[in-house]
Amino acid sequence: MRMWMVNPKYMCSSHLLGEHNEIHMAVGYLREGNHLGRYASEKLIQVNTMLSRHNQLVEEMLSRGYKHNSPLIFDPTEIAGHLFEWELSVVIDPKYSLNILMGRCSGCRERYLQNIGRMDLREKWEYAIHKQPNINNSSEKPKRYQVENAMQLLDDIL
Ligand SMILES: [Zn+2]
Ligand SMILES: [Zn+2]
Repeated sequence: MRMWMVNPKYMCSSHLLGEHNEIHMAVGYLREGNHLGRYASEKLIQVNTMLSRHNQLVEEMLSRGYKHNSPLIFDPTEIAGHLFEWELSVVIDPKYSLNILMGRCSGCRERYLQNIGRMDLREKWEYAIHKQPNINNSSEKPKRYQVENAMQLLDDIL
């Protein structure tokens, strides 16, 4: 189980579908009362973004013509009680993930290069602002830390 947390547009279909499945698996695994253990110590699962990340992946799946018949209904507080603080505080670094993914998969690399080439600077900025998992309402004015996050994301994209 691994959440890559990279821009889903850069992911080949097998990595896109794979991460989506693994989020469903991870939710099931946690609901059974299991600990994250090495999935947390190796920073593979970020509990607080599982739902938003799932939905972000689904959005990309639908845009590629895949069907999604497995809605994920998940409230992190339902499993938070049996997890340790350190398991809950994992933050996955998308830049680190992107490096690994690009090193491993030629399909992802190809998509990355295609998408970077096609986006103009304005689109990259819009993407960086609105694709952050913690922004739900895209018409809301981004807050200062969200702008800072976006600048960092943009750094990764460029
Ligand atoms: Zn799903
Ligand atoms: Zn791939």
